[in-house]
Amino acid sequence: MTVASILDEKGRNIIALDTMATVTDALKLLEEKGIGVILITNSDGSIAGILSERDIVRSLASKGADILGDPAALHMTKNVVTCSENDAVTTVMGIMSNKRFRHLPVTGDGKLIGVISIGDVVKRRIEVIEKEAEDIRNYIATV
Ligand code: AMP
Repeated sequence: MTVASILDEKGRNIIALDTMATVTDALKLLEEKGIGVILITNSDGSIAGILSERDIVRSLASKGADILGDPAALHMTKNVVTCSENDAVTTVMGIMSNKRFRHLPVTGDGKLIGVISIGDVVKRRIEVIEKEAEDIRNYIATV
């Protein structure tokens, strides 16, 4: 089971802002879309960074409300870990767990093609495990 199966179900939408957007722009988009991260992209569409609701909360706590007018790029994480749609769901689960973040942008041919969250990954794993359990129950019923 690969990341492609998650993107097939949830779609390949990219929710992103450019590097000129402010923290307030990011907050509005997070709320409007009901998501936990915004990708910040360069003018050529490449990834400049990732801004999580956690980044905003931490910056608010340490620097105060003045950060709301800052460029979002000042508060994002620049070294973004990505995955490919050919990666196994168990592999990306391990990456998220080891690195302690809940989102992974998906790239293909050097371009952004989607974003997956830990919620998407857990949902897919549960579906697979339930299907396996059902197959075993059906098999047992036939022997
Ligand atoms: P999250 O748990 O995804 O809300 O993010 C927790 C922290 O990890 C924040 O500082 C994010 O900017 C950062 N982060 C989230 N996803 C990634 C990623 N794929 N690569 C690098 N950093 C990330």
